[in-house]
Amino acid sequence: MAGTIAVYPGMFDPVTNGHLDLIERGVRIFDRLIVAVVTNPRKTPLFSIDERLDMLREATKGMGDIELDAFDGLLVRYVRQKKANVILRGLRAVSDFEYEFEMALTNRQMASDIETVFMAPNLEYIYLRARLVKEVARYNGDVSHYAPDYVVKKLKEKFHF
Ligand code: ADP
Repeated sequence: MAGTIAVYPGMFDPVTNGHLDLIERGVRIFDRLIVAVVTNPRKTPLFSIDERLDMLREATKGMGDIELDAFDGLLVRYVRQKKANVILRGLRAVSDFEYEFEMALTNRQMASDIETVFMAPNLEYIYLRARLVKEVARYNGDVSHYAPDYVVKKLKEKFHF
């Protein structure tokens, strides 16, 4: 895809191996990839924007030229402001479909020049979500299969283990 700049938006609270799988795929097919941390007023994140960006920075080291950023407000407005033309989203088993489909079509209604591209992760991450990682880590369970070492360390610190 020549000349495509993709924005991959998400909470990344924290970044998981599922997110990283998608970032790797995105870097391979887009000319530029911007990973954008969303400030969602309806959700109370475990990690601050700065902490989430710090974990993303650490986790994506050596993965190529990835821009890390944060934004609030309308996604399509942000995408335009970054002069991007693609929104990258992940699709996990069944659960994501309805919400993602609704979002993609709503965004298209607002900005028909911006295309949403869905990618499936490696099979081993198909059920992986950040909420699950946090729940297991909260009780000092082993999350090393779900998140990079740096994130595992930050989770331990957060939950005082
Ligand atoms: P989560 O639902 O894990 O909290 P986010 O809200 O940060 O994740 O999601 C940002 C984007 O990343 C969404 O498009 C979501 O579908 C995708 N994503 C999250 N986890 C995975 C995964 N394990 N495999 C594929 N895509 C994922």
